[in-house]
Amino acid sequence: MDLPLRMRRLRRSAGLRAMVRENHISVDDLILPLFVEEGIDSPIPVASMPGVYRYPESELAAQVNHAWQRGIRAIILFGVSHHKDDVGSDTWSDQGLMVRMIRIAKQTAPNMLVISDNCFCEYTDHGHCGVVCDDGHVDNDATLDNLQLQVLAAARAGVDMIAPSGMMDGMIAAIREALDSQGFSHIPVMSYSSKFASAFYGPFRDAVDSNFKGDRNAYQMDPANGREALAESMQDVYEGADILMVKPALAYLDVVTNIRANTDRPLAVYHVSGEYAMVKAAAAAGVIDERAVVMETILSFKRAGADLIITYYAHDIVDWLEEGA
Ligand SMILES: [Zn+2]
Repeated sequence: MDLPLRMRRLRRSAGLRAMVRENHISVDDLILPLFVEEGIDSPIPVASMPGVYRYPESELAAQVNHAWQRGIRAIILFGVSHHKDDVGSDTWSDQGLMVRMIRIAKQTAPNMLVISDNCFCEYTDHGHCGVVCDDGHVDNDATLDNLQLQVLAAARAGVDMIAPSGMMDGMIAAIREALDSQGFSHIPVMSYSSKFASAFYGPFRDAVDSNFKGDRNAYQMDPANGREALAESMQDVYEGADILMVKPALAYLDVVTNIRANTDRPLAVYHVSGEYAMVKAAAAAGVIDERAVVMETILSFKRAGADLIITYYAHDIVDWLEEGA
């Protein structure tokens, strides 16, 4: 047969396949999420997420140090507050859990990129991501006022990057205004710019022990909407976001590719709890090869256009990269 090009020619040897490989996974791509709960004495396993724990504050330093020693250079901190109120005021207290976590992480590993997840849902007694009005809706602009207080507390504690996840309109502009006016213009903002109201967050609710009963459909995005996801991200670019994000990851790779094609901003994906739990469950049932499936999944994020990957698999990926080398 006379073919002008035979694609298989470049697949015949491992060396040649390596040379024409378009995407690679590196530890530098990874951000490890860490959960800290107040008022506990020992780590509590998250039942639906084997290998993931809620740590007592006294163990945060050991976990940060462990990650640093393994080569992980970025973490994102989530607090599980036992000092909840109706507005989440613990988040802007200079003695609050968010501030304490940041201080511990920076003291332990000064060169670790310490990112704070900036929201209110783990610090409010009703579990919503902000101030709730009499009609039950989250008050966008009142929440922005509190978010400004929160990010300034995080900045004073030494945080390296702010990551607002509440999907409030105007949140990036409000954060930028607060940081810039108080001498923190050097601190970047990674926006959860296209965050969908997703069923894949189910195990995360376990992780943060949320007794949340409602839904967040009035502020998070409809999973049906791809054009709107691009508009959300472009709005955040306009407001000054340094890094954009799509959350969840695997079911939204079309959104990743579309944002990648429309802006030069670095782009993160959040490989969420449900994505992790599904693979763990399938691997435990013996129906898939966990390592192969995870590495293929992470590569798909890179191929789609993601630069940064927030994943509960960070430690495993480090192991697998070392084994592969
Ligand atoms: Zn929230």
